Amino acid sequence: MNIVKYMRTKLRRLLGQKAKTAWISHPLFLQHEPDTGHPESPKRIAAIEAELERQGIRSVMQAVQASEVADKQLALVHPRKYLRFLESVQPPAGKIYRLDGDTVMSHESLQAARYAAGAVVKAVEMVMKGEAFNAFCAVRPPGHHAHSGKAGGFCLINNVAVGAMHAIANFRLQRIAVVDFDVHHGDGTEEIFGNDPRILFFNSFAQGLYPFPETGRSKERNSVEIEFAPHTGSRMFRKAVREQWLPRLQAFKPELVLLSAGFDAHKQDETGRLNLHEADFAWLTHKIMRAAESAEGRVVSVLEGGYTLESLAASAAAHLYVLAAQGKPECVLQYDRHLRHSLSKGRGGGKRV
Ligand SMILES: [Zn+2]
Repeated sequence: MNIVKYMRTKLRRLLGQKAKTAWISHPLFLQHEPDTGHPESPKRIAAIEAELERQGIRSVMQAVQASEVADKQLALVHPRKYLRFLESVQPPAGKIYRLDGDTVMSHESLQAARYAAGAVVKAVEMVMKGEAFNAFCAVRPPGHHAHSGKAGGFCLINNVAVGAMHAIANFRLQRIAVVDFDVHHGDGTEEIFGNDPRILFFNSFAQGLYPFPETGRSKERNSVEIEFAPHTGSRMFRKAVREQWLPRLQAFKPELVLLSAGFDAHKQDETGRLNLHEADFAWLTHKIMRAAESAEGRVVSVLEGGYTLESLAASAAAHLYVLAAQGKPECVLQYDRHLRHSLSKGRGGGKRV
């Protein structure tokens, strides 16, 4: 951080202007329309926004509009040849182009993907300069299945990888933790970071789902994987995170934490493979923030999956509740208590849109 930025941050603190959680999004994200009936629909962001509004969480965050990623920022992750290919298959208005069975581009998709990566770059800038305590990027299309030279699994550009490489290039960071708790394996992120010693990649996923990683395959040294059997519930999930992730995260002493925040491990998600509850996402968020204290709260969370609108909205709200409360332990306890109360009143334990 240069001296001007440092003084600006100091001054802001002296004046008591507390940097808030940034909510970074853009209207373009609603214009990426893969297909009617496609699970990765524009309604996902609208559902999260409505639930945050309902719970009064939106008003405690600062809303920020994403900007477009620069070609040179993208080039840190994706070869120009791949980007030119995506441009060449961009369909005209009203048409779609199928990159594969699941990954579909509409006319605005590539532009939306460029702004999604731009959102993460902006989030990194804001948390590194002290303009936001932490940030959530409400973006579409998602990114963690995008390889350096290949789209897949609804993803065109690897948003989290672009953000991480920007942090390394511009802020000279040496230790970035990337935590992917989406129910699907983050194969694109794994391929991009390979054995990069500046990244420690935490990746949890359920067996038997896309992209179908082989059990027992050789793993990169910088990857800490947890593979869950189908229908694993809260207790086993928390135990695995406590034992396999948190000590490694703490020992790594990250300077920045990037989250690939997929909420499709919720028991109500149409993916239907893990049995997590929205309170587990609050718990996980809190534990990550505590274990990564070395990052001084610099957490950038980026939306990945989560397809059943009600459970996606409830889970993202639980996650943001903790982020916006800046990881204070009492907010997690309050959230668990609140959910128990809801359950005892027979509401089914979740807030619904
Ligand atoms: Zn997923």
